[in-house]
Amino acid sequence: MMPSAFEMSERDQVGVMDGSMGRLCMIKGIPEDDKLWSARGLVEEQYHPIIVEAHMEYIQAGSMMITTNNYAVQPNYYRRVFKEDWEARIPQDTEVAARLAVEARTRCGPAAAAVRVLGCLPPICESHRPDLTAQFIREEGEEACRRFYRTIGEALLRGGADALLAETLNSWEEARLVIEATKDLGAPLLIALEGALRCERLKPQPHLAPEIAERVLEAKTQGAPIEALGFNCAPPEDIFKALEAIEVSGHGERLRQANIRLAAYANCNDRKAVHDAGFDVQKFVTAGPIRVREDLKGSGYVQWCHEFIRAGASYCGGCCGCTPVEIQELSHTLLDMDHWSLGTCSAPGAQDNGEKLRAENDASVSTVASDNDTRSGLGGLAFSRAG
Ligand SMILES: [Zn+2]
Repeated sequence: MMPSAFEMSERDQVGVMDGSMGRLCMIKGIPEDDKLWSARGLVEEQYHPIIVEAHMEYIQAGSMMITTNNYAVQPNYYRRVFKEDWEARIPQDTEVAARLAVEARTRCGPAAAAVRVLGCLPPICESHRPDLTAQFIREEGEEACRRFYRTIGEALLRGGADALLAETLNSWEEARLVIEATKDLGAPLLIALEGALRCERLKPQPHLAPEIAERVLEAKTQGAPIEALGFNCAPPEDIFKALEAIEVSGHGERLRQANIRLAAYANCNDRKAVHDAGFDVQKFVTAGPIRVREDLKGSGYVQWCHEFIRAGASYCGGCCGCTPVEIQELSHTLLDMDHWSLGTCSAPGAQDNGEKLRAENDASVSTVASDNDTRSGLGGLAFSRAG
């Protein structure tokens, strides 16, 4: 086990992030949608209150950083659905996502004033597919990709985001385009790569994390306002290996000296079927629904969070399969709740929701199984959690 990266207490050091929004929103009534994924809740205004409530539940559970729900607002999905006006819709829906997160914080009252809204910069083409992403960047051109990231970065900031979180990025190439496009927008940047750091043949290579750290350090030296390097949406074992490799190589210390934090939030779903299907969405449909991995339900995942923190992470939350229940347990184990309470925050239905989550224990809901199971993607909808 790695020694603690910080001498100060965890309580003072760790920023608790949120968990998956997609599944929570679906339980609360946003329909499953295999084309728009979680963007369905943004496109149809009637569902906006549900998104606000889901954010509020995470704040109530102790999240000090919540991420906007625009993960699926990206060109590859949008132009398939909105043939005429997809390009205009992207900044509109993205800005709405930021406004809804800000509204959730406001509705949680003064006690939530310190909660930060992280504006999501999603993968540009697909999740967990560095091969398709490389092809997309080649075919569309780097300039078009930078234009997309700049457009959504600006929209998120117009909507009130406090910082920008690029997440589940497929490769350093994708991360570089994000950084180039957004580094002068005046907002702190959190750059999170898919934590297994898969190669284009989709093999995990978390031992390459120090190379990513080196590039992040270079980018910061060149002026990019990078606040954190993150690893997300991979199994916790891979994320832990990435963090460990960074400490062992000495990059952990260099990142701290450069004031760059490490962030970790893992995928809690049982991803064996996804792997067996070769990350192919169509094949995966026949592979069966996604479930939360037995050992990552509830406290099982929270224990991993503490491993991440001991390995150097100072921002920690959950990705697909993680619910407010785990975030609350993480917060409780990090914070003295006597001193930190959100008594004024009451998300409508929040109390019922824990019951619903428990009631649906082991009831795999999604029949439309995609590997898009990032925090706001459909797979995020497809977890089931322990009672
Ligand atoms: Zn995820």
